[in-house]
Amino acid sequence: MTSTATRTIAEHTIVLAAWIDENSDRLDKFRRPVEGGVRGAVEHARELMALLYEAGWSRWGWPEEIGGLGGSELHRAAVYDGLGAAGIQIPEVFVILETVAPVLAHYSPELAADHLPAYLRGEEIWGQGFSEPEAGSDLASVRTFARATGDGFVLNGQKIWMTLGSSANYAMVLARTGTTESRHRGLTMLWVDLASAGVTVRPIVAANGREEFAEVFFEDVEVPAEYLVGPQDGGWGVAMFLLQYERGMYAWLRQSILHHRLSAVAGRVRPGDTRSSRALGEAFVLLAALRARSVTTVTALAEGRNPGPVVSVDKMLLSSAERATFEAARKAQFEEFVVSDDLESATLRDEWFYSRATSIFGGAVEVQRDIVARHVLCLPTGRRANS
Ligand SMILES: Cc1cc2nc3c(=O)[nH]c(=O)nc-3n(C[C@H](O)[C@H](O)[C@H](O)COP(=O)(O)OP(=O)(O)OC[C@H]3O[C@@H](n4cnc5c(N)ncnc54)[C@H](O)[C@@H]3O)c2cc1C
Repeated sequence: MTSTATRTIAEHTIVLAAWIDENSDRLDKFRRPVEGGVRGAVEHARELMALLYEAGWSRWGWPEEIGGLGGSELHRAAVYDGLGAAGIQIPEVFVILETVAPVLAHYSPELAADHLPAYLRGEEIWGQGFSEPEAGSDLASVRTFARATGDGFVLNGQKIWMTLGSSANYAMVLARTGTTESRHRGLTMLWVDLASAGVTVRPIVAANGREEFAEVFFEDVEVPAEYLVGPQDGGWGVAMFLLQYERGMYAWLRQSILHHRLSAVAGRVRPGDTRSSRALGEAFVLLAALRARSVTTVTALAEGRNPGPVVSVDKMLLSSAERATFEAARKAQFEEFVVSDDLESATLRDEWFYSRATSIFGGAVEVQRDIVARHVLCLPTGRRANS
């Protein structure tokens, strides 16, 4: 492989396409749906991770000091785009990678050096521990409490909706170190070993029947001082740093997959089926808008610029494009969607169900609209005056 300095994004894309071509047989299994529910999907993902690590692809875009091969977010984006275009199902572990790893790399390079290579090889799984039963959209009301002991922290509380929580070895947990009234000023980000004494993980079965999430309970869990991510009481800033990736890089990653998915749907629309054609067209327009918007965001991240509150637009476009894509798929494959029991039809139903959730995770769409209204469009707040 050429060094980062000489590997432009255009070269990166060409070399990747050639590698995918040469390794088509080995990659073929990653184009097809997987049996065995979420656990089956995780084991399958580990195999793909190991393959991409061995070939170096997943190491591009991460600093060499933490086990990467250098380059920027654009190198990672090019890999997602190349894999997506080749019909390879980019597994959920990459979503968590794009959410958690940038934070470790930025705030805790030592932790990143210890854990990123293991994650990229498929040996570790991580979770994101933000939401609580009474703290979802209102993240500043987190109640999981971390008491500073001098040697570290003692953690007590509960997290919920942790994606892949049942398989996770470590989690990035947002905890309260100040008083409840301190709201966003009294929060701290911690890296937590989920094998620690006092951690209980309970799977949650989603409406599609899959164990997508887990709730995680902490009872006097000891967290060493070196597992502090960012400053104590500075967890809000760390969480905001994370959200630009959870909303921005995630949107890019998904649009890479959705473009390929929509092409497959187009191949199934029957002549004269105007209902499906219209749905397909609507999804295509939304995806085109998402891709155009997302390029700007990924470029900003690659240049070390914070995209700011406008990243909420990426999240909203993604939510609409995701729903529209699977709605088009449902219409074009209506019979299979409703009655077939084969793996492909069951996977389509799972994907359709999951597409409904895009308007919730990473910040609900209603909240994103509010952010855009206040912080991007600077609209006046307060009650509407009676006319
Ligand atoms: C598929 C999926 C994966 C997830 N994975 C994770 C994960 O890995 N880790 C994690 O920590 N969390 C995860 N979550 C949780 C997710 O972050 C929360 O569901 C989300 O933040 C919303 O919080 P809530 O569910 O408590 O709903 P609430 O905050 O109670 O919101 C309920 C409704 O009220 C609306 N609402 C709330 N506040 C406002 C407001 N100010 N203005 C207008 N409307 C408002 C919302 O839009 C929503 O429709 C996941 C969720 C899903 C669906």
